Amino acid sequence: MRFKPDNSTALYIRLQHVRPGWRIALLSGFIVQLLLILFVTSIGLNQLAATSKNLKTVVEVHMRKQSLTKTMVTSARERTVNLFRMVESTDPFERDDLFLQFSDNAVEFLTARDQLLKMPLSSRERELIELQGKLTNSSVPIQNQVFDLLGAESHEAEALLLKEAIPAQNKVLDALAQLDSETQKTALEASSRAAKAHDVARSWMYALSGIALLIGFFVAAAVIHLTNRATREREHLATHDVLTGLPNRMLFTDRLEQALARALRHNELVGVMFIDIDRFKLVNDTLGHAGGDKLICEVAERLKSAVRAEDVVARLGGDEFVVVITEAQKVSQILQAVEKLLALVSKPYQIAARELFSSCSIGVSVYPNDGANSTVLIKNADTAMYHAKASGRNRFQLYDTAMNAMAEERLQLETDLHYALERDEFIFHYQPQLNLETGRVQTVEALLRWNHPQKGQLAPAAFLELLEETGGIIEVGRKLMIEACRQVASWHSAGFPDLAIAINISGKEFWHEGLVQSVMTALEASGLSPEFLQLELTEGIFMQDTDRAVSKILALKGLGVAVAVDDFGTGYSSLAHLKRFPLDCLKIDRYFVKDIEDALINEAFISSILALCQGLHLDTVAEGVENAQQLQRLRNLGCQVVQGYLVSRPVPAGEIAKLLARDWRDEFGHESEAAI
Ligand code: C2E
Ligand code: CA
Ligand code: CA
Repeated sequence: MRFKPDNSTALYIRLQHVRPGWRIALLSGFIVQLLLILFVTSIGLNQLAATSKNLKTVVEVHMRKQSLTKTMVTSARERTVNLFRMVESTDPFERDDLFLQFSDNAVEFLTARDQLLKMPLSSRERELIELQGKLTNSSVPIQNQVFDLLGAESHEAEALLLKEAIPAQNKVLDALAQLDSETQKTALEASSRAAKAHDVARSWMYALSGIALLIGFFVAAAVIHLTNRATREREHLATHDVLTGLPNRMLFTDRLEQALARALRHNELVGVMFIDIDRFKLVNDTLGHAGGDKLICEVAERLKSAVRAEDVVARLGGDEFVVVITEAQKVSQILQAVEKLLALVSKPYQIAARELFSSCSIGVSVYPNDGANSTVLIKNADTAMYHAKASGRNRFQLYDTAMNAMAEERLQLETDLHYALERDEFIFHYQPQLNLETGRVQTVEALLRWNHPQKGQLAPAAFLELLEETGGIIEVGRKLMIEACRQVASWHSAGFPDLAIAINISGKEFWHEGLVQSVMTALEASGLSPEFLQLELTEGIFMQDTDRAVSKILALKGLGVAVAVDDFGTGYSSLAHLKRFPLDCLKIDRYFVKDIEDALINEAFISSILALCQGLHLDTVAEGVENAQQLQRLRNLGCQVVQGYLVSRPVPAGEIAKLLARDWRDEFGHESEAAI
């Protein structure tokens, strides 16, 4: 299969650049999640610290307060008991002992009270302590009175104790009992506050963890989604053509093999079409790569729309497509589809705001007739496509086995061409252009011949296209131009000083940047004066990049050489269009000369060209003049210069001199005018 440049490379690179996007998303997703976890953890820790601080306060402050209150209650109670026992006791030693304990109780009580007063207290607690202080203050003088009465008046002391001291002390104990319950209440409140704060902290933790989990879930889902998409994109990219979205060669081969396996099971036919857009390079050259890409996409769309869903349409690269028609029972079914595709592709296109006509050549191979596997079927469809192209484009060709031999031959020719130049196998033959008025040959056209070592002499039709494709034409043209110029210079010295030479320049040679230099070198090397050299350019050149073509022609004309349009009338150019180019001569294609006698339209065409050329001061040459009748007609229409087998076939250089020496009026004189 031939290699063609791919317009879609730029697009592929663009897509490659998108891919790190999901990696950034993935990374930022994880960072967000990590930050959230950090945030939640720090809030949780803070709340925990606050809760434990609360609890610590409950334990340290409230428990302590309770224990101090308890101490105060106990000491007050013991003091009352000791006072009572002192009153009851008759033993003065025991009384002393009890008094000591009584005093210790007071110390214990006061120490606890002092400490309690230093603790954080509620107003109610403070109030109760103050009340207790007042009650104690009023009970102490009574107790002192009881002490004074001890010993001698123990009955009075007992009476005072029971009547006043104990009730006063009970009041103190009452106040203390209230204080005790108040501290307990405060402690309970504080602990329930701490528990509540703990609950709040816990709820916050739950809520935030829930949110973090939710966000984490979303991030993970997004990451999975992105990763899946990236994987799908990568897979699509690996199996599809970026420009058209069609399956690429890999996927196509796979599908074709599936179709073949199915066809084997069901005893069906499979058609493989190899499709190549005609003159795609011209579209690329004229409309640029963007235009070319657009045409390819349009063609892809049309191909897809023309086949069934189970058929396969793929792009192999460049302007090459393949279509597989599956589940066919008869070859005619496949050919119907082929004809439908051909018709669809040749409908006009709207590209870059202009209407464009395109066509394609299709090669068809059929399973199992033309191959048992995908490789052979594709190869044979390709070979058939090449034949479709060679036999005139915008057509299809069914593969047949003889084509393989031809493909083989072509490959051999390619190898032979490779060596032909270094072995000097290329030569020029020369064909005269006769001026009917002077009866002299005024110009000879150099025509390429290849002295093939095995096949003998070959005309350009057998190898020129291949020589152009391989680029060998540049080197051949350059080398032979020098030779031809030398040849004409030698004819000048041999006594034909007015003879000019016409050399064919193909599109590839014309656009090659070395052309002007090659012409200069040929003129210098041969010493030929430039006005004797004419370059024949084909119409295609004038249809491409007009500005560039004009400036190139001007550069050539700057050297002093003449420029002719070859094969005029076969392409799409009009004289109106050609007016924009600085030309010297126009060669009317032999197609119009051939039928000049039968088709009036050709005569009309030639006469209008002649008239217009006269107006534009363009010389004209009628090509392919083969008989006297054609010559006479042309002469009558006012044509001055003719070229064709009637005068002479192209001949080797050695045979030219005798043609130059002849006065042709003897043969094609005016007397034959009567023959009209
Ligand atoms: P072309 O430039 O139109 O050359 C005229 C072709 O018509 C020649 O074919 C010639 O032999 C043929 N011919 C001349 N008189 C008659 C006639 O009366 N009847 C018929 N039927 N044919 C006639 P040839 O030599 O086979 O060349 C074919 C084409 O190859 C040329 O067409 C030209 O386009 C190209 N070519 C030839 N030599 C060169 C070359 O050196 N360089 C390039 N780039 N192209 C060349
Ligand atoms: Ca020519
Ligand atoms: Ca021609």
